[in-house]
Amino acid sequence: MNCPNCGAPMTLVPGHDYYTCAYCTTFVFPEQTEDHVRVLAEPVGLSCPLCKHALVAGSVAGTRVGYCARCRGILANRESFAGVVRTLRSRAKTPAIDPQPVKHDQLARRLPCPQCGRLMDVHPYYGPGNIIIDTCGACQLIWLDHGELSSVVDAPGRDRRR
Ligand SMILES: [Zn+2]
Ligand SMILES: [Zn+2]
Ligand SMILES: [Zn+2]
Repeated sequence: MNCPNCGAPMTLVPGHDYYTCAYCTTFVFPEQTEDHVRVLAEPVGLSCPLCKHALVAGSVAGTRVGYCARCRGILANRESFAGVVRTLRSRAKTPAIDPQPVKHDQLARRLPCPQCGRLMDVHPYYGPGNIIIDTCGACQLIWLDHGELSSVVDAPGRDRRR
């Protein structure tokens, strides 16, 4: 990312989700998408399993993910994902929305793992939201299509204040 003020390359502030310019001290705070992702500019060296676009780094509830700016899918670490969901649900400020019925046709779609290339497993997510997820057990990765994280966060449940 280049500085909107002077054009110099900006650096990501360590441990944070915003950029600073060493030359003119401009700050840039990336906006959050409707799927709770703050999109950062750094490529992560992996391609989108769905549309093959290069994934960039994103931040969801302070956790780093891979993000596809074209199809808006999210590649997350399986271990940290539960914490991400817990945080987003506890912070939710909009009323809960009953999720759409499970899209069973998604079970027939097989995507390659962006990291190891093997076909990912497809199964229902055992949390709120009625979504079908793609996971790679070897790489501990989980792929979420656009809108799926919102379905998880917006679904009603006791861990949600509204
Ligand atoms: Zn600058
Ligand atoms: Zn994509
Ligand atoms: Zn893998």
